Amino acid sequence: MLTLIQNGEVYAPAYLGKKDILLVGNRVGFIEDRIELPAHFVDIKVVDATGKYVVPGFIDSHVHIMGGGGEGSFRTRTPEIQLTQATLAGITTLVGVIGTDGTTRTMASLIAKARGLEEEGITCYTQTGSYQVPLKTLTGKIEDDLMLVDRIIGVGEVAIADHRSSQPTVNELAKIASAARIGGMLSSKAGIVNVHVGDSYDHLRLLEEIVETTDIPIKQFYPTHINRNSHLFEAGIRFALRGGYVDFTTSTIPQFLEDGEVKCSRALKRMLDANVPVEQITFTSDGQASLPNFDSEGELIGLQIGQVSSLYSEVKDAVQEEGIPLEVAIKVITSNPAKILKLKQKGEIGVEKDADIVLLEKHTLEVNSVFAKGQLMVENGEAVVKGTFE
Ligand code: ZN
Repeated sequence: MLTLIQNGEVYAPAYLGKKDILLVGNRVGFIEDRIELPAHFVDIKVVDATGKYVVPGFIDSHVHIMGGGGEGSFRTRTPEIQLTQATLAGITTLVGVIGTDGTTRTMASLIAKARGLEEEGITCYTQTGSYQVPLKTLTGKIEDDLMLVDRIIGVGEVAIADHRSSQPTVNELAKIASAARIGGMLSSKAGIVNVHVGDSYDHLRLLEEIVETTDIPIKQFYPTHINRNSHLFEAGIRFALRGGYVDFTTSTIPQFLEDGEVKCSRALKRMLDANVPVEQITFTSDGQASLPNFDSEGELIGLQIGQVSSLYSEVKDAVQEEGIPLEVAIKVITSNPAKILKLKQKGEIGVEKDADIVLLEKHTLEVNSVFAKGQLMVENGEAVVKGTFE
């Protein structure tokens, strides 16, 4: 199948100017100033991208794809994600995680859901494990999961600095990181440890101690929720200036922002102002997570569901409200997660890369059309491919 995207302004994410892009099957075949259609040629779909920006499909690398939560009893277990929630938000690659409940949410179900989303047209990987240590993997060993299961690319989300964490020691977490590192090396996957960081003043201390006392490099860790409060955010700046990755969570509720959460668009600006290289920063949505609101006694007082649509919405705010150039801001949901997670086919518009492409309206930056592996999923803001039960 051939698709020609004509006359769009391409951010690959680097700015390439006006280009024509020919999609051949599920890959990008050619990127040229002008691609002419031969007369009497085979069937080819032509998409006019005049007045549009052309950017890589978005990567959301921390989503509770099969649902999560349950922190307010069984009826608060959140539902699984549907295909068009992702595609309408420009997301063409998801990384699924389990979360707090490592008992009724299992690795087998997580991988089944990931494969389902793949069948429906997007790309989906998973991490192995949940909040708890010792980790519950699929095969019983982190290395085996990484080497034998194609969908599994790393470990997580393991919880630290949180009342819901199993309070792992430095030694326990170091062993997890080294197993992830070995499994990653042997399978040519990222093998990073996605770490859920909670509200505690312990912050990133555990990770810093591992980096100081072992040979495990700081980039073995991929800590998330770094914008959840101002004191963790400050610790996150110090961690990033030492070379660590920092991931911000875009899903939020007004209460969190009132309580001191740093809005992602603002967090990006503040990190850049503090001279953190943009390549170390990513956004993820924490989609389908429960967003529990606890009072000062630790009692649950409210619960909402994280939305993947918040992922790009914060990038848009970073451009429109914080004045960050599109080619910089867009990296936090395209080329940066692709490099950190070693997704070699993803995150950039380039010849031979997967044809995951989003067209944005030039003036509003709204998502107009979305291609996943060469297939048109969203056209003029409407889902043209739906999930099996949508
Ligand atoms: Zn989390």
